[in-house]
This record gives sequence, C-alpha cells and structure tokens, in this order.
Amino acid sequence: MMSQDQGFRNIGFIGLGLIGGSIARTLRRTSPDLHLIAYNRSRSVTDTAIAEGVIDEAVDASLAGMETCDLIFLCVPVVTALPFMDRLKEIIGPDTLLTDVGSVKNEIHDYAERIGLGGAFIGGHPMAGSEKTGYMSSTDHLLDNAWYILTPGSEVSVDRISAMHALVASMGALPLIMTSDEHDQVTAAISHLPHVISASLVNLVHDLDGPEKYMRTVAAGGFRDITRISSSSPQMWQEICMSNSRNICRVLDAYMSRLIDYRLAIRSEDADELLRIFTACKDYRDSFNADIGSSLFREYRLYMDLVDEAGSIATIATQLAVNNISIKNIGIVHNREYEQGVLRIVFYDQSSLDAAVRVLTARNYHLYLNS
Ligand code: NAD
Repeated sequence: MMSQDQGFRNIGFIGLGLIGGSIARTLRRTSPDLHLIAYNRSRSVTDTAIAEGVIDEAVDASLAGMETCDLIFLCVPVVTALPFMDRLKEIIGPDTLLTDVGSVKNEIHDYAERIGLGGAFIGGHPMAGSEKTGYMSSTDHLLDNAWYILTPGSEVSVDRISAMHALVASMGALPLIMTSDEHDQVTAAISHLPHVISASLVNLVHDLDGPEKYMRTVAAGGFRDITRISSSSPQMWQEICMSNSRNICRVLDAYMSRLIDYRLAIRSEDADELLRIFTACKDYRDSFNADIGSSLFREYRLYMDLVDEAGSIATIATQLAVNNISIKNIGIVHNREYEQGVLRIVFYDQSSLDAAVRVLTARNYHLYLNS
C-alpha cells in the first residue's frame, strides 16, 4: 500500500541492469527505508545487489513475492517487458502501480491497455544512460538532474501520477509529463535520429578509409564527440528503431531533405546561404548552453590546463580526493578553443566547485572558470 505521504514502501524491479540497477542504487541512497525486491535473469546479479545492500530481496522467474510491491519498475528491453506484464497481471493487486524505463513508449502503452492494465501503468523514460550496460556499470547518481519523462495514459488517476512524479523528483531527476505520442516524436528527433546519423557517419568513414587508415588515426575532437553514442548497445538500438520506426522515418525524411539543401549550398558555393546555415545552428546550439547556465541545469564545472606528463590527471584527482571533494565527471576536451586540450572536471555542487578552485589555485594550476 502507498504510505500517507504518497510515497511507496515496497518497490520491485524486473531487470537489474544499467538503468534498473541505477534506479535501485539511487532509491537506496535517497529513501533508505524502502524495501527493494528484484528479479534478474542472472541470479548472481541479485546476489551481488543484496550483498552490497542495494536490494533487500531477490525473487525467481515466477515473480512470486512481487505481489507485495506497490510499485514495480520494468527495466528490461521492451520486447521482454511485455510478457512480464502478462505475468504481473496475474499476481498484482489493484493498488500496485507498474512503470517501465524503455526508450519508446507507444508500444508498451498500447499493450498495457490491451491487457487491461491501462489504469495501473505509467510509462517512464529516464533520459540518462551510458555506452555501458549491466548492473556493474550502474551508479547511484546516473539520474542526477536528468529529465525523467513520465507518460501516464488517460486511465491513470491523478494521485498515482503525483506519487510517481514525487518519487522521480526525490531521486534527483527532473520529472516531465507528456503523452506517449509526444514522447515518441520528441525522442525520434533528439535521440533516435542522432543515433542513426552517428551510425551512418562511423560506417561511412570505415568504408571510405584507405589502407593506411589515416581517417581512423586522425579521427579526434569533433568526430569522436558526435559519434560517441555509436558505442552503445546495438541490440538496444535495433529494438528502438523497430519500435519507433514511423516517427524515426518521418524525421529521417526531413533530415535527408535538409542534407540535399546543404549539399546544394556547398556545391554552388553559395556563401550567404552557408553563412546562414552555420549561424542559425550556432545560435540555436549556443542557446542550450544558456539553459545549462540557469539554476535548474547548472553544471558545476571548471576547465584547466594539463601538464603533458604521465600521471598528471591522477595527481589532480588525488589532490581533490584528499580534500574530500567528490568528482562527478572528469575528462580531456579537445577542441579549437583549447587547441592543446584541457581537463574538464564536473562537481556535484557549488561548494565542491569552490573548494576545488581553492585547492587547485593554491597549487598554481591555470583554471578557466567561465567557459
Ligand atoms: P542492460 O543491458 O544494462 O540491462 C537489461 C536488463 O534486462 C538486464 O538485467 C538483463 O538481464 C535483462 N534482460 C534482458 N533480456 C532479458 C530476458 N530475455 N529475460 C529476462 N531479463 C532480460 O540495459 P539497460 O541499459 O538497463 O536498458 C534497459 C532498458 O532501459 C531498455 O528498455 C532501454 O531502452 C532503456 N534505457 C536505456 C538507456 C541507456 O542509455 N542504456 C537509457 C534510457 C532507457
């Protein structure tokens, strides 16, 4: 049963991979009193999660025990989630809410409604992830400041939507409610199409490269940045393209027509049109950074020159660690602005950033704070 504060007491997970594991770890950190139960195909994963104190209990493939949950996260690929919904329908009571984390929403919503679970299902999509998969890659901060889209169907009560909204916010993510149709259109443009483009670029360079592999050798900076997502799970992207085919094809058609226009401008050496294209995209893209500067999206980061010698990153990380400053992200940036490459360090909050600036400045590192 839900507690009086609209929260949950017993939460179940079907699948404890990157996303399921990260949600479980986050809930363990943010709501330590919750009772967390999980099923995972490989039992060794749930054994590890129990040993780490991330979950309290594991169940087997019969899912017996899950009926005690007032919320169940389906964190397996969508095609796998559907048969689990059939099984859950047989065992859960009227108070249990189901949610998922899949990257496409219409298919699973249609299924939930078809089998009579429309009022018990709120689709979810944490817009966070990594190229890695599996429980061992999960973290308790993957969802920090990430959009977490919720797609309740028309049969779901307002109380249930509020409870789910509150739970997502309690994990440090940013809940955003939309319809499953809106979700699938939006993600086709900003997530699925970029992945298709990234795949086409990488495969094109692979095919164009000569026997000396010069392209592969000098592929750096920009090319690496815009193709990083190509390293994520091929199976997941196969599934996404099949589940959201109509929306992806619509934006792909628009994109191909745009490419033809750009080709024409380049071929005809139309200076005005080329400047218009690159100015428009720069203005729009720069406005994203302005959003990041607002309090909601603030990223606590600094850039610094890096001495080109072995162990220099480790030295900096150690200096921060001994001063109890936690690093959220660290990596080298190569771009035109910093031709030699600089180190970018992201922190969890303003006080960590301030402390890092004090520690690093005292050691005469050259920092760039307003980039
Ligand atoms: P993952 O590979 O890390 O975990 C998948 C989980 O599903 C594992 O626990 C695995 O054991 C289980 N599983 C797979 N096939 C199964 C089967 N046939 N029977 C039982 N269990 C099975 O993947 P993930 O990244 O956690 O992705 C899970 C879902 O999250 C996918 O639907 C994906 O679309 C969605 N998602 C992924 C990302 C991302 O960046 N990885 C981001 C947002 C949403």
